[in-house]
Amino acid sequence: MRQWIVAGNWKMNNTLAESLDLASAIKEGARDVKGGEVVVSPPFTALVGVGQVLKGTGVALAAQNMHSEDKGAFTGEVSPVMLKDAGCTYVILGHSERRKYFGESDESVHAKVQKALASGLKPIVCVGETEEERAEGVTQSVIERQIRGALAGVSFTDDIVIAYEPVWAIGTGKVATPEQAQQAHAFIRGLLRERYGASAESVRILYGGSVTRENIGELIAMEDIDGALVGGASLKPEGFLGIVNKMP
Ligand code: PEP
Repeated sequence: MRQWIVAGNWKMNNTLAESLDLASAIKEGARDVKGGEVVVSPPFTALVGVGQVLKGTGVALAAQNMHSEDKGAFTGEVSPVMLKDAGCTYVILGHSERRKYFGESDESVHAKVQKALASGLKPIVCVGETEEERAEGVTQSVIERQIRGALAGVSFTDDIVIAYEPVWAIGTGKVATPEQAQQAHAFIRGLLRERYGASAESVRILYGGSVTRENIGELIAMEDIDGALVGGASLKPEGFLGIVNKMP
């Protein structure tokens, strides 16, 4: 039985004070959550502070990115050692905004996934097709390339989390239908099964893309959808907790 995850990606939003307020509200609201995991991913500047607010609670901390080296002359980057030090359990890798605006490739995502696992961080690996790719009918080949790229040579562990995030659904209000999402999730699970056999059943596959408390119910009801990666709706406690409260 897979335990659900609801992860909030705050992206480049919130000052430290705003982050601490949001984290405190989520901590209170998620106090009685059972059967799954709530994760928040503040900007780097708020990781330590939010980590302190969440210490000893069931709410886990994630970073939005990391470098694949422990330290060195990489101006502007943050290493897995630093993320562990800040209290992170998870790290989001290969988000489509990183791929689009910061040149992340399947190769760089792969190096980060390997490094995250070796460092004791659980990677949330984002994959998904653009609107043009879906229109061209290459959704599955894009997802396959991204999954195979990210996990090449990576041994099985159920610390690996996948997020299916169709790029056309991110921040657009155009959520995938439950059937579209389930089809992609089942395809991803099939790829994982080819790679890891029956162990693939324990990998959590999250859906991301315009998730709200209004639409999460029918998404989470689908067989291979094990939770959500939430952007916009994670910035207000009531929006995020409304999603958490719809988990089975
Ligand atoms: C995201 O950025 O991962 C995301 C899913 O954003 P939104 O929920 O705003 O579409």
